Amino acid sequence: MDSIVLTIGGELVDTANRFEVANPGTGGIAGTAPNAGQPELDRAVAAAKAAFPAWSAKSDAELQAACIAVADKLEEHAEELAQLITAEQGKPLAGIGSRWEVGGAAGWARYTAGLSLPMQVLQDTDQGRIEMYRKPLGVVGSITPWNFPVLIAVWHILPALRTGNTVVSKPSPMTPLASLRMIELMNEVLPAGVVNSVSCQDTDFNMGAAMSGHNDIAKIVFTGSCGTGQKVMQSSAETMKRLTLEMGGNDAGIVLPDADPEKIAEGLFWGAFINNGQTCAAMKRLYVHDDIHDAVCEALVAYAGNIKVGEGTREDSVLGPVQNQMQFDKVVRLVEQAKAKGQVLLGGEAGEGLFFPPTIIAGLGADVPLVSEEQFGPALPVIRYSDIEDALAQANALEVGLGGSVWSGSVDKAKEVAKRMECGSVWINSHGMIQPDVPFGGVKKSGFGVEFGEEGLKEYTTIQAVFC
Ligand code: NAD
Repeated sequence: MDSIVLTIGGELVDTANRFEVANPGTGGIAGTAPNAGQPELDRAVAAAKAAFPAWSAKSDAELQAACIAVADKLEEHAEELAQLITAEQGKPLAGIGSRWEVGGAAGWARYTAGLSLPMQVLQDTDQGRIEMYRKPLGVVGSITPWNFPVLIAVWHILPALRTGNTVVSKPSPMTPLASLRMIELMNEVLPAGVVNSVSCQDTDFNMGAAMSGHNDIAKIVFTGSCGTGQKVMQSSAETMKRLTLEMGGNDAGIVLPDADPEKIAEGLFWGAFINNGQTCAAMKRLYVHDDIHDAVCEALVAYAGNIKVGEGTREDSVLGPVQNQMQFDKVVRLVEQAKAKGQVLLGGEAGEGLFFPPTIIAGLGADVPLVSEEQFGPALPVIRYSDIEDALAQANALEVGLGGSVWSGSVDKAKEVAKRMECGSVWINSHGMIQPDVPFGGVKKSGFGVEFGEEGLKEYTTIQAVFC
C-alpha cells in the first residue's frame, strides 16, 4: 500500500515525502500516502482546468456513459477498495461496513449517471422564447472526511462529472488510501485531467484551505465538521466560490408514547450506531416518553448487548474501532462526564487500542455535553420527557440541524411532530436512511446546499437564460 499515489492530468504522481496512515483496528500502519503541497495542487487544478473545455462540450449521452463506466470500475474493484477502507478507516468488511460502502458508492454512481438537467423552455409566446440552460461551473474542489471516504468522494465527484465539470479531490489525511486508488481507477475510463487527486498530511501545509482560496477552483463541495466548514466559507469569499457545505449535526430521535419498544429497538440501534456512530446523520440524542422510557431502554440494551465489536477484517465483527485517537479521546471525555450525571445502561468503559463498546447512558439532561455536543462515536444519551412540546424544544434548541427522527405506532401522529423538527431530513421509525434520489442537506449551522437527486445535481451548475 506504499504504491498508492496521486493522479494528476491522467499521470501517476508521487511526492518526495509520504506520510503514514494508521490502521485503527490493529494499532499498526495501513500504508503511506503522498504528502502533496502547493505545487501539486497547482498542477492538479491546471490539469482540471485544461480538461474542462473538452469535457464540458461532451454530449449528455457521453457524460452519462462515462459515469456508468466509473460505476462499472468501482464494482470491478469493489473488494480491493473495501480492503483499503477497512485497513485505514477501521470499519468491518462485513455488514454495514466497507463492502456495503463500496457497493453503495457504485450504486450511487450508476444512479447519478441516469440523472439529467435538460434545457427548459420558460416562455414560448408571441413576445418571444426564453430557454434556460444549466451550465457546468468549471473546476470543482472536493474535500472529504474520514468516516465514509469512498462513498462521500463519489457523492462529490459523480454529480460534478455528470454535469460537465472537472474535479480536484482531497481526501482526509486519516483515510486517503482508498480514495486515491479509486481516483486512479476512475482515470482508467476518463480522459486525462477530468478527475485529479491531492492528498496531504495537513500539518505544514493545509491543502483544504489552499483549495478554498484557489483562483481557478469555481466551487468547493465540502463534507466535514462545522468549524472547518466555516473556515472553507471564509477562505472562499475572495474568489466568490460556489459552495455546498455538508457539515456536522446532532440528530435527535423522539420516541412517542405509542411506539412499540420491541419493534423499534433494532432501528434505534442502527440509527445511532451505524459506522460506530461516526456518521453525519446518525441519531446522536434519544428522547423517550416517560410512559415507555424503561421499556425502550431495556429493548435497546438487549439488542445492543449482542453486537460484536472487533477488528474489521474478522468476518464476525459488526462494529470496528473508533477511527482515530482524537475522536476516541472525545468519546471518552463525553462518556466520563455523562457517567457522573446519569446511569450507564450499557458499555461505558474504553476497550483496548481505539475500541470502545456501544454505550447507552440514560438519565441525562440538556446541559450534559454528551447531549449538547456532537459525539461522533458509539455513545448514545437517552433523555426522558413527559411533554412533547418540551422534547421538541430540546431537539430544536441546538445550532445544528442535519437529520431527526420520530418513532410511533401512528405515521400520522409522527408526521405532525416530524414537520416541526428543524432539520433537513426527518425519518419516521428509522433514522439516517439516505438514498440517491432524495435531496439531503442540513439547515442552520449544519451547512447549506443539498446532495443527491436532481436538486443535488443543480448545485454543480449555473443558470443561463437565453432570450431567443
Ligand atoms: P474535518 O472538518 O476535520 O475535516 C474534513 C476535511 O476538511 C478533511 O479532508 C480535512 O483535511 C479538511 N480540512 C481541514 N482543515 C481545512 C481547512 N482549513 N479548509 C478546508 N478543509 C480543511 O471533519 P472530519 O473530522 O474529517 O469529519 C467528521 C465531521 O464531518 C463530523 O462533524 C461529521 O458530522 C461531519 N460529516 C458531515 C456529513 C454531512 O453530510 N453533513 C457527512 C459526514 C461527516
